Amino acid sequence: MRSAILTWHSLDDSGSVISTPPSVFRRQIESLADSGIPVVPLNRVRNTPGSVALTFDDGFQNLAQHAFPLLDRFGWPATVFVVSQYCGRSNQWPSQPATGIPALSLLSWDQLKALPPRIEIGAHTATHPHLTALSAQDCDRELRECRDDIEHRLGYPAESLAYPYGDSSQNVRLTTSRYFQFAVSTSLRFLSQDSDPLDLPRLDMYYFRSGFSLGALFNPTARMYLGLRGMVREARARLPV
Ligand SMILES: [Zn+2]
Repeated sequence: MRSAILTWHSLDDSGSVISTPPSVFRRQIESLADSGIPVVPLNRVRNTPGSVALTFDDGFQNLAQHAFPLLDRFGWPATVFVVSQYCGRSNQWPSQPATGIPALSLLSWDQLKALPPRIEIGAHTATHPHLTALSAQDCDRELRECRDDIEHRLGYPAESLAYPYGDSSQNVRLTTSRYFQFAVSTSLRFLSQDSDPLDLPRLDMYYFRSGFSLGALFNPTARMYLGLRGMVREARARLPV
């Protein structure tokens, strides 16, 4: 049996591609709770068949209102991947497209520090670049600086990394292996015990925002649905837009 890493970005009602409405998020979490599917920390999901791990990219401020209290209710672990030079600022990093993504506040170091230990902070680089576009030296610096910032600010080293835009290559993964035990991508797939720990696939909840109950995640219909979404997404990715 497979397991899965679920991903959200921002919880807001703007309708952007990085946004899940808070009401939809609540429904997703409640349906997961009703299903009895175990929610485990990221470092255990690969070896716990039938489980899920919850991840949030970029560290948006709106998690404090819409995610953390709900996770508290169930006592669930989660990983928040932060962009270390942007904590307490907004998501306007240089690689952000000029249109389509709203400017949103990010959690500050103080807020991150105040989170309970079951909410783990992971690395999402120092400035959110496309890592494959960087020189080996710059890629190394993005990862090292983020890891060091987290350790310096929070007192513990991050053990996991989320590649910005899911963008990695063999060289990027080699650099990653110097600093992190796990790294997650954006490939829309389930994971298994033999998944590469430095290239773990994730299910972006953007594709599950309507008409699909998370409680049915491990049913055969989910795999068919995902196969279809994956094909549509890959076809779109090839378009010159
Ligand atoms: Zn990101």
